[in-house]
Amino acid sequence: MNRLPQDLHIHTIFSRSDSAVVPEQTVELVAAIAHARIIGISDHLESIAEDFPTYADTVRACGLLVGTEVNGADWLREAEEVDVRYYVYHCRDRGEDYRGAERLLATGKPVIIAHPLVLETDLRRVPPECLIEINNRYTWRNNWRTLRPFVGSFLFVFSSDAHQPHWLNQNVARYAARELGIRETLLFSEDRRAALAQIAKSGNTG
Ligand SMILES: [Zn+2]
Ligand SMILES: [Zn+2]
Repeated sequence: MNRLPQDLHIHTIFSRSDSAVVPEQTVELVAAIAHARIIGISDHLESIAEDFPTYADTVRACGLLVGTEVNGADWLREAEEVDVRYYVYHCRDRGEDYRGAERLLATGKPVIIAHPLVLETDLRRVPPECLIEINNRYTWRNNWRTLRPFVGSFLFVFSSDAHQPHWLNQNVARYAARELGIRETLLFSEDRRAALAQIAKSGNTG
């Protein structure tokens, strides 16, 4: 099977409040399908905060990376407390959410700006250390060409934002990225460090 390099935005039945998730979307099934070489689960923090250890243990037991999707500045305190490897962050166009991104970066963990076009995130206000997501679930619905001015000033990741087993792909996200000439950044590898150094050298204008 031709596996994707990376998918860090995936929901499972732990996202209880998300009606798009089907009962078959278990961590175990995502791990068994193994559609990517690096797989992280990013269930909504609102759903997992209450019993984080059960969530984290389940994800780790399946050999996957533990992440979470954080719904803006309102969830910062909980986000800082949970032991995740990375954040997928809802950054709406409001000052507290941009400041929230800074605060999450201060944890030293990667911060992925989730589907910025859907949330009308102003990327000029996003710290350049954040990674920008091109997301298979939503990208086709928005004018992703508006990302073009930011191609040289951020690192990008592609993701499925899968809520159901058959969403575990990135065909639309990769089409948009190809058109924009974006090279994918792989987190948790040497690749990210090299890409960061490259972007620092070229000067950040974003
Ligand atoms: Zn989201
Ligand atoms: Zn999501």
